[in-house]
Amino acid sequence: MLQELNEIEPPRKNLFATKKLAYAKGDRPKVDCILCSVVEKSPEVPNLTIAETEFSVISVNLYPYNPGHTIIFPKRHTIVLTDLSDAEVLDMYKLRVKMMKILSEKWSCSGFNIGYNLGKFSGGSIPHIHEHIVPRFMNESGFLDVLANTRVVIYEPYKMLEELKKFWQEME
Ligand SMILES: [Zn+2]
Repeated sequence: MLQELNEIEPPRKNLFATKKLAYAKGDRPKVDCILCSVVEKSPEVPNLTIAETEFSVISVNLYPYNPGHTIIFPKRHTIVLTDLSDAEVLDMYKLRVKMMKILSEKWSCSGFNIGYNLGKFSGGSIPHIHEHIVPRFMNESGFLDVLANTRVVIYEPYKMLEELKKFWQEME
């Protein structure tokens, strides 16, 4: 399995930390909501959409904490998780299950951290709810590295998008 992982993951070469720093300081696309702009396919924002359904979008995270870090969000703008309709919740759940299967089967990940940052003081940076799926692999560093948002992850997001999109379509 290690060999497989090495084949899939290219050697580390890009550092995203500097970009993320600029982003954290406010240097981000000048749109009302980044995720709404992704839904609208606005040229103002990078679009890393893997797939979309009637209610939701699944996308590569532009600043991945780990290879395979994806986000799922409702197309409808909301900052309140408890506002989601049953249909939206079910739809997002289905996307999550499919992505977990892909990451487990194709990338042999051995665990997941899945969750939301909700509210002003939770550490979230986009006011449009989105669920993070962070796959975990053997022989990587600890949980805190991921939670502390300081880990330097080296996997070019567009390359990740290309691979995940292919797996997504194959599984349909
Ligand atoms: Zn929005």
